[in-house]
Amino acid sequence: MSQSNLFPLVDAPEAPYEDPLDLMDEIERLKVERDASILAHYYVDGEIQDIADYVGDSLKLARDATNVKTSTIVFSGVHFMAESAKIMNPEKRVLIPDLLAGCSLADSCPPDKLAAFQEKLRAEGHDFETVAYINTSAAVKSLCDWIVTSGNARELIEQKVPRDKEILFVPDQHLGRYLMEVTGREMILWPGSCMVHEIFSLQDMLRAKRKNPGSQVLAHPECPENILHAADFVGGTEKMRRHVASISEPTTFLVATEVNMIHPLKLAAPQHEFVPVPGIMADSGETCACNRCPHMARNTLQKVRDCLRDGQPEIEWQSYFDRAREVLERSLLN
Ligand code: SF4
Repeated sequence: MSQSNLFPLVDAPEAPYEDPLDLMDEIERLKVERDASILAHYYVDGEIQDIADYVGDSLKLARDATNVKTSTIVFSGVHFMAESAKIMNPEKRVLIPDLLAGCSLADSCPPDKLAAFQEKLRAEGHDFETVAYINTSAAVKSLCDWIVTSGNARELIEQKVPRDKEILFVPDQHLGRYLMEVTGREMILWPGSCMVHEIFSLQDMLRAKRKNPGSQVLAHPECPENILHAADFVGGTEKMRRHVASISEPTTFLVATEVNMIHPLKLAAPQHEFVPVPGIMADSGETCACNRCPHMARNTLQKVRDCLRDGQPEIEWQSYFDRAREVLERSLLN
């Protein structure tokens, strides 16, 4: 079965409507009963972020997962994130609201293809270390030397990857190209990309900027090169949050990343206005939701409640998690 079949984008029929406030109360009760904590990524719905015990980007959540005191973790995000939480907490039960919440970027780098490519490079005489963005499956992590997030990639490459080694960077070609620029290191790039960040239109972004004089563009390094070059600030989600909080003058920010990121940005800096890119349609002034991640959108309050109540779906320990754990620990915890 291909990875894309593992994580289909078309969902089952929608569950009947339930009042969000009732659901939140039920979740609070179940959290105590089941001795559980909820970790939520910045890209899931704001209402899930509001009931979570920990909210953050991939790096912060991977670290937070090691500090959780409860015996159960509910990871509201996508599959590779829940895998990382399990890898860092083998003794804990890790639940994910929807097992089908995958990631187009992680799917673009299957472990068998990566292993074959590494073998080919070695046979050609390349002496390299493999640096993987955290948006990869645990099976891929187990084949790599280093794991980075958009928040720590530059520092890790500069401080830990020996200068006499070549770098194979997987799976995000845009982040890899950006890292080549900021670190000055040549890299062999895997041709993967994120379906959400790939679709930002430079034209729409420049139009939005013209409509909002004095605005600043915030772009995630997973965006293509043309967007990054036109942006005023490039950084992962945690850096974006800190950046807007550091500016007291009310400012309009055009946000080129998953649209739910606007929720934590508003909480961190309510004095600003945040406009999604490419949310503004040229003539109509309407907004569109094409910058929503369909995988993150699989997380709903109902599914969080259901997985707490039923104790599943659960991330099961796999044999390659041991090797992935070594790589994650030396990359993210030191
Ligand atoms: S936004 Fe992109 S990289 Fe993030 S989970 Fe969705 S598909 Fe993956």
